[in-house]
Amino acid sequence: MRKNIVAGNWKMNLDYEKGLSLFSEIVNMVKDEVVGNQEVVVCSPAIHLYSIGKLASPVSNVAVGAQNIHQAESGAYTGEISASQVKSVGASYVILGHSERRAYFGETEALLTEKVNAALAHGLAPIFCIGETKEERESGKFFDVIKAQLEGGVFHLSGEEFAKVVLAYEPVWAIGTGLTASPEQAQEVHAFIRERVSAKYGEELANNTTILYGGSCNPGNAKDLFSQKDIDGGLIGGASLKSRDFLDIVK
Ligand code: PGA
Repeated sequence: MRKNIVAGNWKMNLDYEKGLSLFSEIVNMVKDEVVGNQEVVVCSPAIHLYSIGKLASPVSNVAVGAQNIHQAESGAYTGEISASQVKSVGASYVILGHSERRAYFGETEALLTEKVNAALAHGLAPIFCIGETKEERESGKFFDVIKAQLEGGVFHLSGEEFAKVVLAYEPVWAIGTGLTASPEQAQEVHAFIRERVSAKYGEELANNTTILYGGSCNPGNAKDLFSQKDIDGGLIGGASLKSRDFLDIVK
C-alpha cells in the first residue's frame, strides 16, 4: 500500500528559533493523527535540520527533509550542501525539481538527474516536483511538459531506485498564487503520471508510488483534493508555516 504524505515546504522562511517552535507545535499536534501508512514531512531550510531532526526522531511517521542538495560528493563548492551532509543530520527526504529551483537557479533535467542520483546514493528519498506553467496549461501542451519532466528527471532509475521516489505534481500557476488546480484537473494529471509510471515500471510499482499535489493547498481544499483516487497527499508551501492550518490539512 502506498504512503500518504503531507509535506511542508518552508522555503526561505523562519529564523532558527521560530522554525524550532513551529516544528515542536507541529510534532505535538500531529503525533496522534498520523498512523499506519501516513507520514508528515517538514522540509526546512538547512539551518533547522539538525535540531528539528532530533525532535522528529522519537515520533514515528514524522520526518524531516531538505529543500536542495548539491550533486557532488564533497569538495570545493562554496555555499553548497551535499546529500551525505543532509543525511548526517537526520533528514530522510529532499525536495528536487521544484519550479522555483528550475526557474531561479537554472536547474535543468540533466542536473536534476545527478541530484536525484546523489540523493538516492546517500539514502535520501527525493520528493521530485513536476508541473506546467500557465502558458503551457493554456496552450494544452501540459501533458507533454509533465511527461518530459518525469522521464527526464527520474526514468533513468532502476525499479528498485524508483520505488524510493515520491512524486509531486505542482502546477506552477498554482504555487503561491491562491489559484488551486480543481480536484478534477489535479486528478487528471495524477492519473496520467501514474499511467506513465506503470508503462515504464509496471502496474505494481505504479500503484505503490506516492504522488502529492502542491500549489495553494489549504485547509479549505485539501480534503477534496486528497480524496481523489490518485492524489496521495500534498506538498504545502504557505499553509505549512501556520501550525493550525498545517494540522487541518493533515487531518
Ligand atoms: P504553496 O507552495 O502551497 O505556497 O502554493 C507549494 C510549493 O511550492 O511547494
